[in-house]
Amino acid sequence: MDAACVRRWLEVAAARIESERHYLTHLDAAIGDADHGTNMHRGFSAVLAQMTVLAGAGPGDLLTSAGRTFVSIVGGAAGPLYGTAFIQAGQALGDGDAFGPKRLLEAIRASLAGVQRLGAAVEGDKTMVDALAPGLAAFEVGLRGGTLEAAVRGARAAAMDGMRATIPLQARKGRASYLGPRSVGHQDPGATSTALLFAALEDAVLAQRSQRLAAGQPVPLGPLHER
Ligand code: ADP
Ligand code: MG
Repeated sequence: MDAACVRRWLEVAAARIESERHYLTHLDAAIGDADHGTNMHRGFSAVLAQMTVLAGAGPGDLLTSAGRTFVSIVGGAAGPLYGTAFIQAGQALGDGDAFGPKRLLEAIRASLAGVQRLGAAVEGDKTMVDALAPGLAAFEVGLRGGTLEAAVRGARAAAMDGMRATIPLQARKGRASYLGPRSVGHQDPGATSTALLFAALEDAVLAQRSQRLAAGQPVPLGPLHER
């Protein structure tokens, strides 16, 4: 993977957030202050605008810049939390031109660590951690026995399962926690946007695979024998 792959991820993520922004805001209306879709859309619009001036940036720099944009432009809880996640991921990718699946795993792990350092949420608190943690775990498991494509597919599915599993939970962090038991029965907006970002990761990886195939280049296979 390279800078083009990170760009594609940011672009698809921005498009997915844009098309679901009203839904994200609708979710936040139930247990928050009805701004999550607006916040995320504002952040990704700024990231897209900024990417055009980051012509020669490497993959790590692209993510770090996206994170700084989120921190400076997006308010609320999600701005600093996603900002930190992207900055940590960018730093984990480092300043090389390309990175492999293991480095991507480290980047997702660093994102989760950053979010938890800042927000102190654990799984079950009804936050973005409830999609990010299972997404990371599934990605790691998927990489062990299979291809990158299988790993991102598994990560997206697990993040979406985690997102849906926030519905019966009572919020223990963030604005929704002020509602106490009344937060039960609603899907968490931040877990939902995180699941969208995992979906965009799958899209970006599959797009790269299609491009390679179209150019007649082989794509890496999983192990050809059992280990
Ligand atoms: P705000 O709550 O300030 O209006 P947003 O509406 O943009 O910000 O984002 C709300 C989301 O932020 C929640 O749905 C939740 O997933 C996430 N969130 C809130 N607090 C935390 C926290 N301490 N740790 C992780 N995620 C959090
Ligand atoms: Mg809100």
